[in-house]
Amino acid sequence: MKSRHFTVQPLSEGVSATIATPGGAAVSNSAVVDVGDATLVFDTMLTPRAAEDLATAALELTGRRPTLAANSHWHLDHILGNSVFSSLPIYATRRTREILLEKRVELEGELKPEALARDVSEIERQLKAGDPGVSAELLALNRALLEDAANLRLTPPTRVFESKFRLPSQRRVELVSWGSGHTESDSVLFLPDEGILYAGDLVLAGVHPSTGSGDPEHWLTVLDEIDRLHPERIVPGHGPVSSGAVVGEMREYLTTVLRVASAPDPHEMPAKYATWGFRESFEQSIRFVRSRPTPR
Ligand SMILES: [Zn+2]
Repeated sequence: MKSRHFTVQPLSEGVSATIATPGGAAVSNSAVVDVGDATLVFDTMLTPRAAEDLATAALELTGRRPTLAANSHWHLDHILGNSVFSSLPIYATRRTREILLEKRVELEGELKPEALARDVSEIERQLKAGDPGVSAELLALNRALLEDAANLRLTPPTRVFESKFRLPSQRRVELVSWGSGHTESDSVLFLPDEGILYAGDLVLAGVHPSTGSGDPEHWLTVLDEIDRLHPERIVPGHGPVSSGAVVGEMREYLTTVLRVASAPDPHEMPAKYATWGFRESFEQSIRFVRSRPTPR
């Protein structure tokens, strides 16, 4: 199928990734996996209209619309499509569900049409003024939210697990969490027989990760755990499908953030990251690390 929001990339028999198209309303990548007698989608994109296309893609790829959904973490660009799948079991870690319930009122306030319209015009103004605190990607994300504002319904996951959940399916499919990292609680989808790992935002490719709702030091230990699974291919939360080596790039990035944050100013973003998307995340990460109460 053709979607304005993503391209479908088959990875193995019955296993595909959807890779978000720049400027589209998906923003993050998802998985479509035929697990034998069910179809799983892992992460549901930024908007219901992109998630509708995801459901259509699943039907074409597996012969059925999704029958199970899961979320890697609570960030809106991975969960707002949940409303399209509200009749399905939606899996996430227990903490991810709790965070969404705790933040519900705040997030619903941020998603009101008037709040989104304000955000879009503010980001437009900052971009025009050359403010490095915003990016074209951030503007596109907020515009996509505004366009779908009338349809946005925060839909928390309904089924929870702690550290590991193996689907009762023919294909070996595991949801695995090592606790905090990119957020307070992240999970990955791992297919051991295919050597394919969908990393959520624990691993990105060519895109600055945000660290402000997580724990960068613990994130480094989580990356070690991902390496221990020896994935041959990694579907990052954002960016193209990559080899297992992309984990090393993420480790280097986080190490750089921690080093720069602990050194005296002035500082600069290393040139190799200048072309990465969501550039504002670099400075936000430096500020976040410096603002934490106890240096570790
Ligand atoms: Zn995220």
